[in-house]
Amino acid sequence: MRDSTPFHPQTLAVHAGREDFAELGVHAPPLDLSTTYPVRDLATGTESFDALVGGAATAANPIYARLHNPTVARFEAAFAQLEGTSDAVAFGSGMAAMSACLLAAGQRGRHVLAARPLYGTSDHLLNSGLLGIETRWVEPAGIAAAIDADTALVIIETPANPTLDLVDIAAVVRAAQGVPVLVDSTFATPVLQQPAAQGAALVLHSATKFIGGHGDVIAGVVACDSAWAGALRQVRAATGGLLHPLAAYLLHRGLPTLGLRVLQAQENAQRLAEMLERHPAVAKVCYPGLGTVANAQLVGSQMRGPGSLMAFELHGGHAAAATVMASVALATPAVSLGSVDTLIQHPAGLTHRVLDADTQQRCGITPGLLRLSVGIEHVDDIWADLAQALDAAAMSRVA
Ligand SMILES: *Cc1c(COP(=O)(O)O)cnc(C)c1O
Repeated sequence: MRDSTPFHPQTLAVHAGREDFAELGVHAPPLDLSTTYPVRDLATGTESFDALVGGAATAANPIYARLHNPTVARFEAAFAQLEGTSDAVAFGSGMAAMSACLLAAGQRGRHVLAARPLYGTSDHLLNSGLLGIETRWVEPAGIAAAIDADTALVIIETPANPTLDLVDIAAVVRAAQGVPVLVDSTFATPVLQQPAAQGAALVLHSATKFIGGHGDVIAGVVACDSAWAGALRQVRAATGGLLHPLAAYLLHRGLPTLGLRVLQAQENAQRLAEMLERHPAVAKVCYPGLGTVANAQLVGSQMRGPGSLMAFELHGGHAAAATVMASVALATPAVSLGSVDTLIQHPAGLTHRVLDADTQQRCGITPGLLRLSVGIEHVDDIWADLAQALDAAAMSRVA
């Protein structure tokens, strides 16, 4: 935004992507829904077409909305500022963003190294071989030994879904020995962590979650340098995994409150985690703010705070988890996360169902595990709702 004294993230969140408003004479971003653009000057049109198909961020003429859209580009520019990267490229979903990264990586090598656990569908996509690139599963500690000349990319997720284990990004970047590292940072948001500052080449978000924040947009975004962005834009233009401009508008509209939402939900989550830990129906709570996840010491350094997601295990197993899902009234029993409202779901039965039983077990996805995405409601109201649902689960166990 300005070079001399960088703004704080909260300020960037409010003003990024709005630098030209004074010049435009507007106070809200223009929304451009055009699918095509007039080409009166053919020479400029041809030049623009070549540039955009080749991955350029802008051109004199946008030509066609699969190649460029100013509203999407405005959100991308704003988001890049929050992640501290030069560029960002937005997609129609988090999975479209992941697919584009894998397709772009396929031009650099024949396999990726990936560390579990990952988001269920990311795991499924990588395992399926659908995109023609092979996946080798590794532990973070095994990355250095597994790198070879054909390694295109290293993929990690931190905090991980659904166990909330943390992965040391800087250590993975060192182990990758120059091979680019992709970090799925969806659970953290740029408010709590900036993986690019730790050396990650690609910072991926399902913007469906905290970035959108209101449960009404499906979107993905990758923050990266301009070389990667060019490759991702080429893939996007060719495969069409676009973000709709109205969705980009909504994401940009939500950015100014991202910090407030993330910090309030996090404050609620810390209190709820402490109360859950003391509830007799609960066997254990996995939450970075309790120190009960792998690498919890990274809270305070890699991560500015523990975030607002947690997983907890019930003594009553699958039946108790089903009772809690059926009994919550304020919280919504639903997949997805990072919304202003509290969501609770059962990873083994829903989001991580695509993993085979053995992988589920190794990743700690047990029949009695529930994942909680804490919202910004008053914490006492969330607790009252959870407590009555947990009591119902404990009661049905005794009965
Ligand atoms: C939801 C999610 C995704 C996939 O994003 P979609 O927008 O649903 O396609 C990827 N990674 C993580 C961590 C997620 O939570």
